[in-house]
Amino acid sequence: MAAPGSVQKGDEEWRAILSPEQFRILRQKGTEYPGTGEYVNFDKEGVYGCVGCNAPLYKSTTKFNAGCGWPAFFEGIPGAITRTTDPDGRRIEINCATCGGHLGHVFKGEGFDTPTDERHCVNSVSLKFAPAASSLDHCNDSRTYLIIIRRLPLQLLVTFHHSSFSVVVVMADPVSVVQKTEEEWRAVLSPEQFWILRQKGTETPGTGEYDKFFEEGIFSCIGCKTPLYKSTTKFDAGCGWPAFFEGLPGAINRSPDPDGRRTEITCAVCNGHLGHVHKGEGYSTPTNERHCVNSVSISFNPAKPSSIT
Ligand SMILES: [Zn+2]
Ligand SMILES: [Zn+2]
Repeated sequence: MAAPGSVQKGDEEWRAILSPEQFRILRQKGTEYPGTGEYVNFDKEGVYGCVGCNAPLYKSTTKFNAGCGWPAFFEGIPGAITRTTDPDGRRIEINCATCGGHLGHVFKGEGFDTPTDERHCVNSVSLKFAPAASSLDHCNDSRTYLIIIRRLPLQLLVTFHHSSFSVVVVMADPVSVVQKTEEEWRAVLSPEQFWILRQKGTETPGTGEYDKFFEEGIFSCIGCKTPLYKSTTKFDAGCGWPAFFEGLPGAINRSPDPDGRRTEITCAVCNGHLGHVHKGEGYSTPTNERHCVNSVSISFNPAKPSSIT
């Protein structure tokens, strides 16, 4: 969790990132009309964060139906909520400890059957719900989960630690995880892409978009978006197709052509045809390999190559 008071912005900065309604409630202590809020009758499992600064505020396990027209919680996440007595001394205002945003008021001793006998009466507008990826009890200690999503070329590394969590996308599972039928591929690929990726076609040399192209970034599979090559491994082989001296680790599969003469390279995730790899041609590169890749099989993203490894 961010340190208390660590998010501070001027009114104009808040107006730039909040809707007028969010600004009125969070920054001007407004109140949404009862019974209208998005989270009044809402009981999914997850965490409610501050809409202003994303700090986690309440677990869904502390939410209860108070029948008052606003979301009610019997306690906040430890350290996430600050309390201040209203100027007229009648009510206690509750705020996000991180950005000071107005949440609502807290009431004590109303007789609700909850562990604290408190009701945090919170504007839905002040909150942003994030569904739980796993049991919320795991928020109480630090654990890491590796979630492999089949049919997506991603693995998610999710770390829960003291009520906050981070998600890291790591390299694709090296086994083929994107599988589609021919008809499904035809629906998402152009005829040219289908012919090359799925029927092992080859574009006419010298015609490809990335043949003479040396910008800094990442080349990904056009079929499944998996990152395949960094621009720092691209070189000008003069052969009429994009040439790379190595692929991203685990991203490329190799198999001998049926005639045994060449080695085909495919996307490890969706098995899409990329081209062929040739060894020992004498290019002055670290691997002395040339991945000869169809421009049609790849798409370019102008990212920093260092952000991928
Ligand atoms: Zn906040
Ligand atoms: Zn692919």
